[in-house]
Amino acid sequence: MTRTIVHYPQDEMNSFLLPVTKGCSYNKCFFCTMYKDQIFEALPLRELELVLMGADRYTEKVFLTGGDPLALGYEELRKILGLVNKYIPFCARVACYASVTNLKKFSLDQLGILHDQGLRFLYIGFESGSDYALALMNKAHRKEEAIREARKLNKAGLGFNSIILTGLAGRGRSLESARETVEMLNSFSSQSIITMNLKIFQGSPLQKMALAGSFELADQAELLDELYYLVENLEVDKETIFDSSHPTNIFKIRGFLPQDRRKILNKLEARRKSI
Ligand code: SF4
Repeated sequence: MTRTIVHYPQDEMNSFLLPVTKGCSYNKCFFCTMYKDQIFEALPLRELELVLMGADRYTEKVFLTGGDPLALGYEELRKILGLVNKYIPFCARVACYASVTNLKKFSLDQLGILHDQGLRFLYIGFESGSDYALALMNKAHRKEEAIREARKLNKAGLGFNSIILTGLAGRGRSLESARETVEMLNSFSSQSIITMNLKIFQGSPLQKMALAGSFELADQAELLDELYYLVENLEVDKETIFDSSHPTNIFKIRGFLPQDRRKILNKLEARRKSI
């Protein structure tokens, strides 16, 4: 029997997990093995309804699981949110993963309607603002599209976390990637900026690239310099969480920008000197 692993962000560990899709509708990013063996599919609404019937009606947070439930499109999402509202009327927030590419399917008005129906938060893998790094890793979007979609979310009042992968551009190019990433992140407003460190997973296309010598991981010093550049140059228009506490990171910290900037930079400097 194959066991399906359900992925969800740390912040959603107390949310009611509602499976709406299996796999990722794109599934071609070279570094990613999360949904490698799964064919993307939507779960039937009847199945969702049965799951929701077992939910506590006073549940406050729901997380729609699957690589990118937004791939289902506007009409289908409206139906899903309608079911959530029917069975969990006290739910204050529905969240899910989202990709820049699938956000392009939604107009500003549609996002506003979904927000009003309860979709309140997205976790978006922007990964980097560097078109070089995005192309190298076969991401489906580029920086300008990321900026356009994120601004659309800001206008719709739909909150999101920006997930950034440090080291994505490979050895020798991290600072260049950081500059582009800062330019991208400074163009819109995120609730949190979450950094994770690129890892080479067994069986990923990136592993083949590394074995063939066409990709080399950045070393620790370079990764710390990339993080330093990000923290030093991020301009935020409201208090924004900076979070590098994910287990993949070599430097783990969580604080608020702009007020904790100096403290984070001091710790980064100390760590940099120690290697
Ligand atoms: S990184 Fe995201 S979009 Fe890319 S294959 Fe993995 S789940 Fe899909």
